Order: sequence, then C-alpha cells, then structure tokens
Amino acid sequence: MIGRFVMLSHRASKIKPSQTLAIDAKAKAMKAKGFDIVNFGVGEPDFDTPENIKEAALKALKEGFTKYTAVGGIDQLKDAIIEKFKKDNNLHYMRDEIIVSCGAKHSLYNIAQALFDPGDEVLIPSPYWVSYPDQVLLNDAIPIFVKTYETDSFMVKPEAIESHITKKTKALILNSPSNPTGLTYNKKSLEKIAEVILKYNLYVISDEIYEKLTYDGFKHISIASLDNEIKNKTIVVNGLSKAYAMTGWRIGYTAGQKGIIKAMTNIQSQSTSNPTSIAQKAAIEALEGPQDFIHIMLAEFDRRRRFLVSELNAIPDMSCITPTGAFYAFPNTSKLYGKSFNNQKISSSSDLALYLLEEAKVALVHGGAFGDDNYIRLSYATSIDEIKKGVDRIREAVSKLK
Ligand code: PMP
Repeated sequence: MIGRFVMLSHRASKIKPSQTLAIDAKAKAMKAKGFDIVNFGVGEPDFDTPENIKEAALKALKEGFTKYTAVGGIDQLKDAIIEKFKKDNNLHYMRDEIIVSCGAKHSLYNIAQALFDPGDEVLIPSPYWVSYPDQVLLNDAIPIFVKTYETDSFMVKPEAIESHITKKTKALILNSPSNPTGLTYNKKSLEKIAEVILKYNLYVISDEIYEKLTYDGFKHISIASLDNEIKNKTIVVNGLSKAYAMTGWRIGYTAGQKGIIKAMTNIQSQSTSNPTSIAQKAAIEALEGPQDFIHIMLAEFDRRRRFLVSELNAIPDMSCITPTGAFYAFPNTSKLYGKSFNNQKISSSSDLALYLLEEAKVALVHGGAFGDDNYIRLSYATSIDEIKKGVDRIREAVSKLK
C-alpha cells in the first residue's frame, strides 16, 4: 500500500505546533461542548477592528482592489509605515528598507530564512515568545537560551548575552514589550545591549509588535533608534495585529538594511507573494487614520491589568510582578508544585494548567511553553467580569491543593 508511512523531513519533525494556539483551540473546543470556560489563553485583543479600518477594506473591495500587488506591499502602505517610524520612533527608512508580510510571525519567519544558515546560533532571552525557537530550528540554526530572572524584571543582562556568544552567534532576538512577561526595556538597558551587539558584530531582531501597549507612563523605545550604527544592525518587526485589533487581517512589517529586505522579498515572492490586497488598504487607514481607538483600548487593558495582578497576588502561594507592557500577567506558581488534589500531583506548570482547565474550567498557558516552568501566563484581553470569574475559580481550585 502506498502512502501509509509519512516520511517527513528532518526539519519538520523537529517542530512543535504553537502551544498557545493549541491551548486556545482546546479551550474553544470545550466551550463548543457546552463547558463554561474562562479563557485567559488568547493572545489577541477582544476588541473589534475599528469601523474606519473596516470601511477602508470594504471600499478597496468595492473598487476592485482584489488583484496581486507588489510582493513586499504597495508603495502607499510602505509610505504610511515610513511615516509611522518617523513619528513614533524617530527612525528614517526608504521604501527599499521596508517589507510588508502576512503578519509579524511571517515577517520573523522570513528574517530567519534570510539570515540563518545551518549551525548558526541565535540568542533568545528566556522566557520567550513560543515561535522564536521553532522558527530558528526550521532553518537548521540553533536557539541558544539566555535565562532572565524575575528579580531583574526579566530583562536580559548584557553580561549574560556576552557569556553565550561564540564564533557561530549570528543574532539576538529582542522582544519589548514582551510576551509572555510584559516587561519593557528602558533606554539605558537597550544602550548596554547595543554595545554588546556592536562589539561582536551581531544582528538584533527587535520584535516591537506590542509597542503601543505600555502602561504607567512608559514610552516604548526601539533599539534601532539609539544611533545609526545600531540601526544598521537592527531588523525591526512590527505589525497591526495588536495595536489595531487586526489579528485576522495578517499584516506585519519589517524595516532594516536594504540587502536583508531584498532577500526577504525574494523569499516572500517564492512563498506567499503579497499580503492580502484589501488588508493592505485597511492597514493604510489604520496607520494614517484617527488613533483614538488605541487609547480607549489601552485604558481598558490598564484597568484589567491592575485588577488581575492584585487578585493574583492575593492568592496564597502565587506572586505576580506588575507588567508594564503587552496584555499578559505572568505569575510565579512554583510554590504550588509538589501539592496534590485527589491524588493528582502538581509537579509542573503544565500539570497546573491542566488541573485549572479541568477543575476550574479556566484556560491559560503553562510557563514551560515559554521556556520557564515556574510560571503560568494569563492574557487579560478579556472582559473584567470574565477576569473576576476566572480568578475566583483559580483561587478556589488552588485552595483545594494540599
Ligand atoms: N510577536 C509576538 C511577541 C507575539 O506575541 C505575536 C502574536 N502572538 C506575534 C509576534 C505575531 O503577530 P502577528 O503574526 O499576528 O502579526
């Protein structure tokens, strides 16, 4: 019989499915079966895409803007992105230093394809966003984790980066504001990281997708904006998913040296071609139109953040530092490990996540998925009523653990 055995590539067999998407799918499946699930698993705003952005897409559709476009995005969108960089980050790019892709995840994937050779080492501060290691592995390069600590607000120390550098090190992936920790890097710490990058002639891939979501007066700074030297070594990734509640539209973009952008465009021309034509028109409206939506969404996220963090800190044996960006809380749950309920022992973050899903009907992501088993991640991109219901259930389930 033909086709009974699948002979996968070495590369495909190394890759795990995105665990955050898997947990979200499981929570949705349980909900569909009638379970009342509180979902803290999702990594997307619960807000709808603003009307003006939807209207721009409808207009494009009605006008027949439905054909292939330039592979790396239309000039009008590149110009809107160039303006955004100027206005928000004091960064100056030309059109041939910008590429638009099908979401920031796709941007990061193209960067990995364009930069990494087999055996190259890529530094990833841990805890990290789930896709970084797998995207590195997909290119037969090697993820090298640089552990960060809660006591340093999860900021990677320059000396820790330096101690992991070898002749094979090619790049560092930096994510501020961070998923899952919610940390934001200040200028001083970015300057120290930039020094190490320049000393060893590495690249920084700077994932700034949560740029607009910062709290307590913190203003996001792009490492590329520090000076021209570090700008030349930085590849900035951003996108529309989080700031404009446009996760389904799939628009992300990259800015960097012309040569890298050209290679990424070639790769994109042989894989997806252009991002969706009408989503590109919607993206122009998002970037150039009124920005009040972001402030409204941010004020609501801030209210939820403060509520959730204080509730989590009130649960015995849990502690949670206050995140300054993104929409995630990352409480330390390690004191719960070793406890049991009905002979079910909790030994890890995944045991705890499973227990909370089954016992409390609360979905969240175990820290192990982000490289640190001492934590769990809760997204507060859900209503304050749901948050209240969810933390009440967690408190009760945790109190049963002996
Ligand atoms: N980077 C980080 C840190 C993220 O959390 C996400 C989404 N979860 C992405 C990139 C990808 O975003 P998108 O592909 O929707 O633009």
